[in-house]
Amino acid sequence: MNYKPLLGKNALVFGVANKWSIAWAVAKTWHEAGANLIVGYQGERLKKPVEALLSELPPSPPSFAFPCDVSNEQEIKSFFSQAVKHFPKIDLLLHSIAFAPKEALEKNFYETTREDFLKTFEISVYSFIALAREAKTLFRDGGSILTLSYYGSEKVISNYKIMGPAKSALESSVRYLAYEFGKDQIRVNAVSPGPINTLAARGISGFTKFLKECETKSPLKRNVEAKEVASVALFLASDESRAITGQTIYVDCGYSILGF
Ligand code: NAD
Repeated sequence: MNYKPLLGKNALVFGVANKWSIAWAVAKTWHEAGANLIVGYQGERLKKPVEALLSELPPSPPSFAFPCDVSNEQEIKSFFSQAVKHFPKIDLLLHSIAFAPKEALEKNFYETTREDFLKTFEISVYSFIALAREAKTLFRDGGSILTLSYYGSEKVISNYKIMGPAKSALESSVRYLAYEFGKDQIRVNAVSPGPINTLAARGISGFTKFLKECETKSPLKRNVEAKEVASVALFLASDESRAITGQTIYVDCGYSILGF
């Protein structure tokens, strides 16, 4: 890419697990556009795979990886104290994290237990607020915060279960954070892709059938690719989107416009 809209920008990326992760597609695109990267990964188990992915990137701009299990407040703090040693200020943050216990995705929605509800909301929603809060004072010249949502926030996608209300709360959190962070020129938006074959998506039963259905029914007659989500994340990270905040932007080959 000769066009480097993110040259000199510092980006924190959360949610890379493997090469299929949407966060990895965004990290690669932001890096190619000139951004310096720090990736926060979920615990020791992901250290080697994430470092191996980063080693595939050109050495410049620099990229680093540190653990950040978002269920652990102490680990969030220690991630940020390591991050500031490399980046005294940040410009971009991607939150691409979701989790629901397996049982909660298998039972009827009305059977969701208190424990499973709280776990799902802790990892999939609260972590977004916690990371944004921790990052806030590091956005010295404004910046852009992004998260990943899904259409199940708005409409019933039968197997999405507890993740539906979690994504509704996530999109609402985007609006409240955008409102409160706006005066510091920090923009907050969500990207809402159609189904993409990743580890998290394969936890939703009937996912493969759903992929096929979206391909057949979408106005564009195909499924979205992670790199197309990354292109929108690049736009939302760049100055080209400087007047956009508080929005959820569908990147789903048009599926969400359908009424049948
Ligand atoms: P993925 O499995 O690659 O990514 C999920 C990430 O969440 C992983 O990196 C995992 O390590 C991280 N995570 C889970 N619990 C964590 C914790 N306690 N601490 C830190 N990290 C934790 O799958 P993905 O599809 O790339 O998912 C990324 C985001 O995209 C999610 O928010 C998902 O809901 C959203 N999304 C995915 C699709 C899809 O079809 N794949 C569609 C719309 C939205």
